[in-house]
Amino acid sequence: MKKGGLLPNLKLTLPPPDEISFSKFLTQSGTFMDGDLLVNRDGVRIVSQTEVEAPPPIKPSDDQLNLADLDSIKVIGKGNGGIVQLVQHKWTGQFFALKVIQMNVEESHRKQIAQELKINQSAQCRYVVVCYQSFYDNGAISIILEYMDGGSLLDILKKVKTIPEPFLAAICKQVLKGLLYLHREKHVIHRDLKPSNLLINHRGEVKITDFGVSAILASTSGQANTFVGTYNYMSPERIIGGRYGYKSDIWSLGLVLLECATGQFPYSPPEQGEGWINFYELMEAIVEKSPPSAPSDQFSPQFCSFISACVQKEQEARQSAHQLMNHPFISMYEDLDIDLSSYFTSAGSPLATL
Ligand code: ATP
Ligand code: MG
Repeated sequence: MKKGGLLPNLKLTLPPPDEISFSKFLTQSGTFMDGDLLVNRDGVRIVSQTEVEAPPPIKPSDDQLNLADLDSIKVIGKGNGGIVQLVQHKWTGQFFALKVIQMNVEESHRKQIAQELKINQSAQCRYVVVCYQSFYDNGAISIILEYMDGGSLLDILKKVKTIPEPFLAAICKQVLKGLLYLHREKHVIHRDLKPSNLLINHRGEVKITDFGVSAILASTSGQANTFVGTYNYMSPERIIGGRYGYKSDIWSLGLVLLECATGQFPYSPPEQGEGWINFYELMEAIVEKSPPSAPSDQFSPQFCSFISACVQKEQEARQSAHQLMNHPFISMYEDLDIDLSSYFTSAGSPLATL
């Protein structure tokens, strides 16, 4: 898809209120609060209900990470909401990724971001990027994340063009475990699953990042044309503004895998090099056309069947993360002892930290 195309300034339909609820929201100077979550320049913490009316200032504890203790090394990425920097903890030498998001958004969206941060920080799963701390100061949210030294699947794809099936199966298994955790344990829909939100490291680990936040930001900014990537992987029910659930992430997973396998975004137009002209053409294709499929002469029947199980246009016909874990594609290459660590290291963008 061509970036900077003629995208209209569309508002995304946000989830129905019953999906995300907010008990309380206060904005003071440099502090905001959502229910039992308090965020200010010293960090994020959960306050008890009795504290909600008059929250005391947050005091950084000894084990809390502070922005002042982090040295900036270099910018490692740019997204819709802001930049991602590699930073190093002054005293321990540990590396982190620091994501800074400008928060010049409506208050209603700030509430959602506060909610996401709360979920982010409480997520404990080896298939989800750890969010250590979040700060809100001067109109910007800073999030200290686990540093993934291989960058994203998008970075890898730019180098290798296509990822062979055995590696894809190993990657997919980890993503499914992350999705299973988000869906079943945290009861959250990611909403923005795409190659740049799947991060990798030299240990061969694949982790999901950025659930929710970037999709919300995309819906709030006036610069809709910079958010092309966010629409690309949207399920039919979501792109038309309908009700959507966990299966929406499964659609996105199917498209991501197909893109990794073929080296092409599945809704690319027939003529090489021509991007979609506008959002409506993309939406029309997603909603009206048959879903994309993996060419059966190039891929195993198991892979083709897996993709088909993900990209059913009817949500009910799509399999869940749990069901997909038992799909033959996930286990068919297990005997090969696939080494993602050396694959990422040899295929990848610079895994070196400095
Ligand atoms: P969007 O804003 O739509 O989500 P995006 O995912 O490309 O787009 P960011 O989430 O800001 O934008 O990430 C930009 C890039 O920064 C990623 O593609 C990745 O290469 C890098 N990056 C993000 N988070 C980390 C991290 N925790 N560790 C290492 N690199 C990261
Ligand atoms: Mg991202």
